[in-house]
Amino acid sequence: MENKSMSIRHADLSPKIDLLVIQPTPFCNLDCDYCYLPNRSDTRKIKPDTLRQIFATVFESNLLSRQLGVVWHAGEPTTMPIGFYRDAFALAEQARPDNLILTHSIQTNAVLIDQAWCDFVLETGLQVGVSVDGPAFLHDRHRKTRSGAGTHARTLRGIGRLQDNGIDFHAICVLTRQSLEYPDEIFDFFADNDIGQIGFNIEEIEGANLNSTLAGNDTEVLLRRFFHRFLDLVKQHPGVLDVREFNDAMTAIAADQDTALYNHQVVPFGIVSVDADGNISTFSPELLGQFSDAYGNFIFGNVHQGGLADLEDSAVFQKVRREIEAGRSRCRKSCDYFGVCGGGAPSNKYFEHGRLDETETMYCRLTKMAVTDIIVADIEAELAQPDTASPAMAGGRSL
Ligand code: SF4
Repeated sequence: MENKSMSIRHADLSPKIDLLVIQPTPFCNLDCDYCYLPNRSDTRKIKPDTLRQIFATVFESNLLSRQLGVVWHAGEPTTMPIGFYRDAFALAEQARPDNLILTHSIQTNAVLIDQAWCDFVLETGLQVGVSVDGPAFLHDRHRKTRSGAGTHARTLRGIGRLQDNGIDFHAICVLTRQSLEYPDEIFDFFADNDIGQIGFNIEEIEGANLNSTLAGNDTEVLLRRFFHRFLDLVKQHPGVLDVREFNDAMTAIAADQDTALYNHQVVPFGIVSVDADGNISTFSPELLGQFSDAYGNFIFGNVHQGGLADLEDSAVFQKVRREIEAGRSRCRKSCDYFGVCGGGAPSNKYFEHGRLDETETMYCRLTKMAVTDIIVADIEAELAQPDTASPAMAGGRSL
């Protein structure tokens, strides 16, 4: 899943669904070489009856939060026609309980964004994230068509359409080993193209992507150098770029001691993921449908065969929940970063170690740990300045 932001709230683990990930189709029009999706050539499409059943299953659950984000994901969402979403949003609206605040979002490669999509976004308030890896020489190295052509120009055209229509969006930039040498060029790309909100995802070992260019021994040094330089650039140009990783780290560090990061990836039903056939999973969305003998492809039920409460009876659900909780518990005992991480991403633990009850991963070393250290060092350096009037600033925000 591309947007990996987490939230701060009291760290109780009582189940509350705040994110529903629906796979309208597994199909993607591109073939990025670091993609984790195993079935991205599969053109299956979700059926209206399955959609109806998803909304009924989730909305009738007593685990529902008052706010629910619906993310249309796991395949390129814009390969489905606009009419599909118009009907789907109407189905959701018909089934929505009165007190539920519902938002819809997509993460897109933007190559199919045209005026009709912009009109639909403006009409419905659909939230948009665009995947773009910085300048063309970095983006086109990995984000390709099936025939191997780069997609940067087409992505930028889609971004231009969004901007011409005044549509606010965030960008997700995947960091590979090559990217780490170019913090200035990446910063300039986003600044020059007026893209003001970005999140960095690292190239993960996940699903179909069995190897990562970041897996080498020296990567951590390079990545810390990258984020260090990027933070300098953000601070030198206040108000230009809001970086999710810096903001999340600052928020987590600044939270008082009675609160901790609520990590919905380790909470059963914090996230509910449903594929195009109505199969249901929970915890990390990236787990759904990944091949696993031990965990039954992480499918715990189907919306056509019962409610969410029935999933809890499934032996594989209980095994997964037990092991994820064991991993979280070990993280809490052993890791200094638990308070800003909340126990990590089960998907990364599984794909890197083959187990869910693990602790440290490449993913958490290169994201949570590295960024937290850099932000803490920056705050300490600022506070050590004799005439510092206020604590550290990054992206125009103060702690
Ligand atoms: S070991 Fe990794 S996943 Fe576990 S709490 Fe620490 S940073 Fe998070």
